[in-house]
Amino acid sequence: MKGFVSNIIKPLFSKWDFFLAVWLGVLTLSLGYRINIIPLLALFMGAKLLAKTSQLLYKLLVIIYSLIGFLYAPTGIIYGSPDVNVVGSFLYTTLEESIGFLKQTPFYAFLLGLVVLILGIALATEKKSTHAVASKKSLMMLSVFFVVLVSFGPMKKNRIDLSAYRFISDLVTAYRTVSTQNQGYAAIIQKKPIWQPVIKSRRYHTYLLVIGESVRRDYVHAFGGQFNNTPWLDSVPATLFNNYISAGPATVISLTNTLVYKQDREKQLNNSVVTLAEKSGFETWWLSNQGVKSHSDSPIARIAKSANHTGFINTGKADYSASSSDENLLPLLAEALKSPAGDKLIILHLMGSHPRACDRTQGRFDSDIGSKELSCYVKSIAMTDSLLGKANQLLSNSTANWTMMYFSDHGLSYIDKNSSRAYLTHGDSTKQNYQVPFFILSSDSTQRRVISQRRSGLDFITTFAQWLNIDDPAITGRCSMLSKSDCDEVNTVYDFNERLTNYNVLPSIP
Ligand SMILES: [Zn+2]
Repeated sequence: MKGFVSNIIKPLFSKWDFFLAVWLGVLTLSLGYRINIIPLLALFMGAKLLAKTSQLLYKLLVIIYSLIGFLYAPTGIIYGSPDVNVVGSFLYTTLEESIGFLKQTPFYAFLLGLVVLILGIALATEKKSTHAVASKKSLMMLSVFFVVLVSFGPMKKNRIDLSAYRFISDLVTAYRTVSTQNQGYAAIIQKKPIWQPVIKSRRYHTYLLVIGESVRRDYVHAFGGQFNNTPWLDSVPATLFNNYISAGPATVISLTNTLVYKQDREKQLNNSVVTLAEKSGFETWWLSNQGVKSHSDSPIARIAKSANHTGFINTGKADYSASSSDENLLPLLAEALKSPAGDKLIILHLMGSHPRACDRTQGRFDSDIGSKELSCYVKSIAMTDSLLGKANQLLSNSTANWTMMYFSDHGLSYIDKNSSRAYLTHGDSTKQNYQVPFFILSSDSTQRRVISQRRSGLDFITTFAQWLNIDDPAITGRCSMLSKSDCDEVNTVYDFNERLTNYNVLPSIP
């Protein structure tokens, strides 16, 4: 027994093993996985086995994974392992949004990434090649350990639960899903819309739809928020929907499930609110301050481009701090309003209160509410209120017959609530991720109304058709969404993985 230990077991291990184990642990965390002891041990044995067989390959892999871990740690800590959402936002996100994301990343995520990198470099450049000495028996021993550990712990549901392996396989799977989806979108947007609208009577000449960004309803004063940040909305005779929930917790999931007709869960991007309006005799504009990437169009950009006129003022290339103010959309709106077209639908897509809010306000805020980022958030909503007021002014200067609708794509939830570091970020586990402001204001509105019946982004196509006052055979919902009717309540929302979940059981964290 003594001989077994000193001849076979002992040469297998060195003092560097401690660092190797720590490195594998922090690597697992930075790739967005949890530490489970058996898979980690299996990974450790696998690394040892590799080091004993090929020093070069071992060191190469350590360097490659150190770099991956270092670069992925901010995403891994906040969003977890690579999935459709992570890959989708990587492909659709502009440089500006990425910088915003990095600025919002907690410091310890960078620290973790740095630990992975430094430990990895130390392991790969370690001179005393302690791993080199290995007898055949020792190798056999390691192989047995590795195989036993892998087959007992990590082989679940036919997938190998080794973080380093899973990261690559999850990444490939997610990328495949996103690109298949994208090809589907590219094909379907070419198809003719199915709409056959029946126009009942045209109530207004100009319809303005403003899509807000990342606004929680409880931060909007007009909807009961405690900070006085919506003087314009407080003063106009709008109809406020104070029980409207967004379809999803992030822009793309929310808006594709809001603005697009679905059949058997297939999102028919060709059948969107834009083409519905066009088929109903409107000339359409999509004016956006959201970033757009030319080489990988997000589904939202595809819908936007189906409008008769499209304007993206934030191409992701220009100096973002200067170009990102939503106010820069106003000249484009004024131009659209001046156009001699007949009836118009103009859609404004704002950057609104997208994290970081301090980037939206250039670091400015009106009152300090205990956290700089939250103070900026309150201010960003005040800026949207002011923008909406100016849009209202432009509308009433150009026509006597207008209506405007506003909603935010989703809410946000807290990180480090009740501290001076508190900020808001995307999430899908609280009611506030879905509670957003929604209102309508028209040239003939005379009094302020509040509709407290539940309304949902998942019914938006019906709501939108009723706003335009049209019927369409494809739109089956007949309940009056714009009145106080008790319609069938929609209690489901999409989560980050685009699975339907029950909104009602989510905790409320005001
Ligand atoms: Zn959004």
